[in-house]
Amino acid sequence: MNKNRLVSIVVPAFNEEEALPLFYKQLRDVLDTLPESYEIIFVNDGSSDKTGEIIEGFAAEDPAVRTIHFSRNFGHQAALSAGLQKSQGDYTISMDADGQHPPKLIPEMIRLADSGYDIILTQRIEPEGKSSFKKWSSETFYKILNKLSDTQTLPGGADFRLMNRESLNALIALPEFHRFLRGMVSWIGFRSVILPFEVPERLAGKTKYSLKKMTRLASDAVFSFSMVPLYIGLSAGALFFILALVEVIYVLSFWISGNSSNLAPGWSSLMFMMLIIGAILMIIMGFIGVYVGYIFQEVKHRPVYICRTASPDKNKEGDTSPS
Ligand code: UDP
Ligand code: MG
Repeated sequence: MNKNRLVSIVVPAFNEEEALPLFYKQLRDVLDTLPESYEIIFVNDGSSDKTGEIIEGFAAEDPAVRTIHFSRNFGHQAALSAGLQKSQGDYTISMDADGQHPPKLIPEMIRLADSGYDIILTQRIEPEGKSSFKKWSSETFYKILNKLSDTQTLPGGADFRLMNRESLNALIALPEFHRFLRGMVSWIGFRSVILPFEVPERLAGKTKYSLKKMTRLASDAVFSFSMVPLYIGLSAGALFFILALVEVIYVLSFWISGNSSNLAPGWSSLMFMMLIIGAILMIIMGFIGVYVGYIFQEVKHRPVYICRTASPDKNKEGDTSPS
């Protein structure tokens, strides 16, 4: 087929000295069967082990290998972003360095992209009967996230995906600091298809996603894709306002039935003031929340829209207008 076409593989690695040699071999075995030419971009995310030396070793032997070394550990999403930015491929595939994203799926991903999809997403399926805390927490997390957010993120989605040049350029154009790439990829749109895969065991070593890192990713996902937390004040204010009305009706019922002497003196007015002030404060907080939400949207500098394709500008060539 097409030797002129370039496939880029982006691999973030943090302290993966044990898994890397095995993974690299698996990957090369698959890539060497492809008709396309390829590049492999390893991103060393501030590792403290021999990851840096190992990938430099690969690069010394293999001109297709390119490397990036971070000055410290910036995290998986940052490492992925750096690799995607550097990628020059017509198709770019991101995958983990531990073999849990099987390279043997690459030919199928390329085939699907050739059949007209812009993005090939992958979805983890756990082997039957296997239930783990990670699986449960991830399922619950995606349920909540998709309830809170307008952008729907694929449950069990992995950062193992193929993007063509157009969709990758759109992703790279999102300059936000807090990055939840799975959400961002869903936000940019384009034609995508889901490829399910069973997650194999790690080739070697332990998970590099500590609970702290997982929590940070979850919080980036919720707070950059949902405005709901900011609007909680408005709902709470409305609730207190209703409570104030109920209190008024309650007090009036005593007056109408001639039992007003049963009310403790001062209780009605004090209770009403408390509820109504609570309501006003929370509603004002809610409005501030809405403004903060708008500011937040603005500072993210996401484009207003993304075109999948647009016909070239007809006037471009003969354009004689003064510049
Ligand atoms: N990773 C990274 N920086 C980090 C943590 C992880 O680049 O701070 C890389 C890691 O080397 C691996 C990928 O991200 O290639 C996924 O991490 P891991 O396999 O530990 O996560 P898990 O599969 O356990 O969710
Ligand atoms: Mg892993």
